[in-house]
Amino acid sequence: MSALDLDRAARLAVARAVYADVPLYDPKRAPVDLDLTDNTNLWGVPPTAERVLREIAPSVITRYPSLYAADLKQALAEWLGVSADMLVTGAGSDDVLDSAMRAFGDPGDRVAASVPTFAMVPIFAQMNGLAYTGVPETADHTLDVEALLATAPKVLYVCTPNNPTGCVTPLATLRALAMRHTGVLIIDEAYAEFAGVSAVQLVREFDRVLVVRTMSKAFGLAGLRIGYAVGQPALVTEVEKSRGPYKLTSLAERVAVTAVREDMAWVQEHVALAVSLREQLADSLRTRGFAPLPSGANFVCAAVPECVAVGQAMRARGVAVRPFPALPHIGDALRFSVGPWPLLERCLAAFDAAVAEVLPDRAAAASTGVSA
Ligand code: PMP
Repeated sequence: MSALDLDRAARLAVARAVYADVPLYDPKRAPVDLDLTDNTNLWGVPPTAERVLREIAPSVITRYPSLYAADLKQALAEWLGVSADMLVTGAGSDDVLDSAMRAFGDPGDRVAASVPTFAMVPIFAQMNGLAYTGVPETADHTLDVEALLATAPKVLYVCTPNNPTGCVTPLATLRALAMRHTGVLIIDEAYAEFAGVSAVQLVREFDRVLVVRTMSKAFGLAGLRIGYAVGQPALVTEVEKSRGPYKLTSLAERVAVTAVREDMAWVQEHVALAVSLREQLADSLRTRGFAPLPSGANFVCAAVPECVAVGQAMRARGVAVRPFPALPHIGDALRFSVGPWPLLERCLAAFDAAVAEVLPDRAAAASTGVSA
């Protein structure tokens, strides 16, 4: 055994037991010419935010950032119509979700979520020593409310619009869940801007509802890592304690404040564009004989047999979309991020070629209009 192997073995022995099964998150995002896998804003960075980014003085970086991003909380509070003490920020909504699980779950407590949903949720649960239960969604892609509540979770996670399906959970269902669930209800609204509906109003009615959002998607700032959550002050304070100080960089906070205060028209314009192109993409898939799920997000998910092989064949043509093998009630599926139409045209051309290669019967049926 080399010294290096000995070192590795020693490190494993000292690792936290619950980490034995924690995988390193790897969505296999190898560089590709056109990447439609991560649902970010493919139109770019909002213009005023970009100008501020270019003009940042070095002195901003030599000092520590603000402890808890007070300026950003104020800007977000004004936009959302809540008070600043109802907000907590983080290094991406990943950080906020992780911190929230740590804040509300004692080791061994249960986190429950509908399946499929955001892939990081079970990982965050494991990372925090919590038990995770995934409850398959119903055949019509809604939450199985009774089965979720029957797991008696401490933390119940709902993503709406859901990643990867795009399906939206109605406010009435969320309210019913909040009324019956005795623990914390986390509502992940990473894609809410594209749905045009939000559950933020529920935080006024319930002191255990935390609505988690991000500036990675509609705001085009994924690389700066800016997430936040809205809830009653007592609730968000616990998340803030768990998150710790200095998590948002000075650079991220400055750019985010600018985007919220000065770029909202740009954001809204591009959200509207994404919504209209989402429907155009869904129509194009329907024309080809595929059945996209109704989406309230900036992506479209459709059942596609042999999704991994089709995804690989598209990648060979320079286009990446995300395969989701064997989803409950859906089977193999591909998720396509929405962006400017010329990119989607290129994606559809790669998809057509991949389907012709991997699913020749399907391609022939699509061209004759006969369902395979
Ligand atoms: N929630 C959902 C549903 C997501 O899809 C993502 C990103 N893929 C996140 C949270 C995390 O986003 P970020 O950390 O960039 O805010």
